[in-house]
Amino acid sequence: MKKMLSQTISEARSFVADVLDFVFPRHCTVCGERLQKDEQFLCADCLLHLPRTGLASAEGNEIEQLFWGRVDIRRAMSFFRYHSASNYHRILMDLKFHGKPEIGIFMGRLMARELAGTKIFDGVDVIVPVPLAKSRLKKRGYNQSEMIARGISEITGLQIDTRSVVRTKANVSQIGKGRQQRQENVEGIFSLADSDALKGKHVLVVDDVLTTGATTISLISEIQKVCDAKCSVLTMAVASN
Ligand SMILES: [Zn+2]
Repeated sequence: MKKMLSQTISEARSFVADVLDFVFPRHCTVCGERLQKDEQFLCADCLLHLPRTGLASAEGNEIEQLFWGRVDIRRAMSFFRYHSASNYHRILMDLKFHGKPEIGIFMGRLMARELAGTKIFDGVDVIVPVPLAKSRLKKRGYNQSEMIARGISEITGLQIDTRSVVRTKANVSQIGKGRQQRQENVEGIFSLADSDALKGKHVLVVDDVLTTGATTISLISEIQKVCDAKCSVLTMAVASN
C-alpha cells in the first residue's frame, strides 16, 4: 500500500513537472536552448563543455601562485575559466546581476561533486564565503558567494560561517588600476567580528570570481592578522585573459 502511494505521489510530481515545463519552459543559462526535464540551469552539452580549469590536483598551480609572497595559503583553485565574450559568462551575470541565487547553489553542488576526492577540501574545517558590504547585500538581496558555499556545504557537509568575518566597505572600482593600487584599494575592507571563532581552523574561503585576487588576499590577511588559521581558496570562476 505504502509503495503504491509513493509511486502515485512520484507520478503526480512528474506530471506537475511536465505541466510546469510546458507552461513555463526553462532554458539553458549558457546557450538558451530549452532544457530537458532532468536538466537544471545548464543543458547537458553546455555542462559537458564547461571550461573547467582542472587545477584541483595541481599543486603550485597558477591560482596558488597569485597568493605566493602575499598571504599564506594551503591550496587554491578556481572551477572554470570564463571570458566576458563567452556565453559561460552568463552564469556569473545571472548569479550576480539577474537575481538568480539558485544558480549559485547549483554550481556549488556541481563543484563539490566534481572536486570530491581532490585536495581542495582536505582538512578543511569551515567555509567562509567572501562577505558583501551591508549596502550591497541589501540591494542584491543575497550574497552570491554564500549561495555557492551553500551548494558546497550540502554535498560535503562542511559548515558555513557567515558571522566571523564582516565587510566594512564595498568594493571600489578596480578598473584601470595597477596591481599595487588594487591591493591598496581593498586593504582594511574586512574585519573579524569574532576573533576566536576561526582560531586554529582550516578555513576554505569561497568566492564567485577571481580576478587579481586582491579582495581574497585582503580577507585572508585580516583573518591571519587576528588569529592562527590556515586558509585555502576556492572560487567558482576565474577570468581568463
Ligand atoms: Zn546549453
